[in-house]
Amino acid sequence: MKRWNGWGEESVNSHLSPAAAAFVKHAIGPGIPARDASLEEVVTQVPPTRLPAHPLITSDPTERVRHARGQSLPDWIALRSGCLETFPDGVAYPESQSEVRDLIQYARTTGARMIPYGGGTSVVGHINPLPGDQPVLTVDLSRMSRLYSIDETNQLATFGAGVTGPHLEAQLRAYGYTLGHFPQSFEYSTLGGWIATRSSGQQSLGYGRIEQLFAGGRVETPSGELEVQPFPASATGMDLREIVLGSEGRLGIVTEATVRVTPLPEQEQFLVVFFPDWERGIAAVRRMLQMRLPLAMLRLSTPLETKTNLALAGHKHLLGAIEQVLALRGAGNNKCMLLMGIVGREAVVRLARKEALDIAGKLNGVSAGGILGAQWQKQRFRTPYLRNTLWSMGYAVDTVETAATWDHVPAIVEAVEAALRDGLAADDEQVYAYTHLSHLYRHGSGIYTTYLYRIASDPAETLHRWQVLKEAASQAIVMQHGTISHQHGVGTDHQHYLFAEKGELGLAAMRQLYASFDPQGIMNPGKLVV
Ligand SMILES: Cc1cc2nc3c(=O)[nH]c(=O)nc-3n(C[C@H](O)[C@H](O)[C@H](O)COP(=O)(O)OP(=O)(O)OC[C@H]3O[C@@H](n4cnc5c(N)ncnc54)[C@H](O)[C@@H]3O)c2cc1C
Repeated sequence: MKRWNGWGEESVNSHLSPAAAAFVKHAIGPGIPARDASLEEVVTQVPPTRLPAHPLITSDPTERVRHARGQSLPDWIALRSGCLETFPDGVAYPESQSEVRDLIQYARTTGARMIPYGGGTSVVGHINPLPGDQPVLTVDLSRMSRLYSIDETNQLATFGAGVTGPHLEAQLRAYGYTLGHFPQSFEYSTLGGWIATRSSGQQSLGYGRIEQLFAGGRVETPSGELEVQPFPASATGMDLREIVLGSEGRLGIVTEATVRVTPLPEQEQFLVVFFPDWERGIAAVRRMLQMRLPLAMLRLSTPLETKTNLALAGHKHLLGAIEQVLALRGAGNNKCMLLMGIVGREAVVRLARKEALDIAGKLNGVSAGGILGAQWQKQRFRTPYLRNTLWSMGYAVDTVETAATWDHVPAIVEAVEAALRDGLAADDEQVYAYTHLSHLYRHGSGIYTTYLYRIASDPAETLHRWQVLKEAASQAIVMQHGTISHQHGVGTDHQHYLFAEKGELGLAAMRQLYASFDPQGIMNPGKLVV
């Protein structure tokens, strides 16, 4: 069963080697684990429902707890401490578009607020019920997960929007296709959630972000059904797909989505190259991108992230040997690890690999071959489980992410890491922060910083530390010309910084747009724009 207050399946645990645990302790001090509230304790806090009865809605308290929060760090703090305060009044599991329509009609007549719910993996407060006088209905799309049709002529597939990553890929694989959208939350996040948050998968360089993969679909809104046709391109004014993408539940409920699929690749290779320093690593990836090499993924870690990943990976003997060879070839203490994915037809993979390694070689990159890459591929969806392990040791882990044009990238990395590293100095607490570039473009890059700090015995203090760090990192992003989110969305946590990139006129246009589909304001109010 899925954990109610952490990541992943209850039966799956990640393990931190003693050396890795010592590394974390050395970086930020000994962790002091806090006591977790039990599910039973939290269930007793759930108030009576305010929703009138409806055959599609359950007010079962356990279901309401399980849909009360997502996966942001404030959500974790609330769930682990049992201090939730708000719960949905009910949860519905519609199985068809007409049931979704029925639920929207019910909300219109009862004044209930609706929160569309995909996999609940939001990390910015998207799915949390906000305090208020109106009852809240969470609509879980998990029963709308079928492959409705596959059109091999046009390489389009239409799914129920509640389909999760593994289920979607399994249904496509039976026909020899893939969507190629692999966010790290792949195991639980859903197609509807990806669309509603403008998600980006690990191989977005090759397959595209969800913006490129989403061809059309159906959205049930309080003003009626919006149908977006899957044209390959069109010059008919505004592209309606753009209204649906990133709508965060404000527009309506995406019930089905047509996506652009690709035949399963003949080959998939993940290689690692080490560069002697960050500057040469950046120069190499920029050259690969600007020469338009057909790569599926590039992920470049800073020297600190490289060191951290190697320390946390275990495999002391293998890594020791690799490090010795690298040092001899000029990649020493400042080395940066580049993970490179190449997928496609065998001949294309061979050519892209040769070209990429040529570019890397000219910048003193040293290829470590496929061993570390294969290890990454095997573990790629296991990393989030480490959050559970670290929490139980007394450490909180969170990430901040942005994207910027290349000229701003180095300054953002420095500013965000510094803001986090020094963020708790007043409390004499250490913060450990490290970064990689992922989701790279010819014109700039996504920037992803992970940070760890110690949880306090008082959950309010743990939350306060997070607020201080989030504010410092977000201000650094905005000041250094980054977007407040490259892939996680806005929810509640990024709202405050949205003005800096949209401006008042832009925000007013967004508000009016959502109001025209939802004049009563019943769809996920308080999220994205207020
Ligand atoms: C460990 C971890 C790793 C992550 N890695 C990535 C990553 O690599 N890339 C990335 O982009 N994100 C990542 N995320 C963030 C998150 O997984 C994405 O935002 C994801 O797209 C959310 O999908 P979901 O189905 O879980 O949506 P939910 O969390 O359930 O909902 C998110 C928002 O979408 C709306 N929504 C959901 N379904 C529908 C629908 N059918 N119709 C209308 N609105 C809907 C909700 O109302 C809400 O506003 C990660 C999160 C975690 C916890």
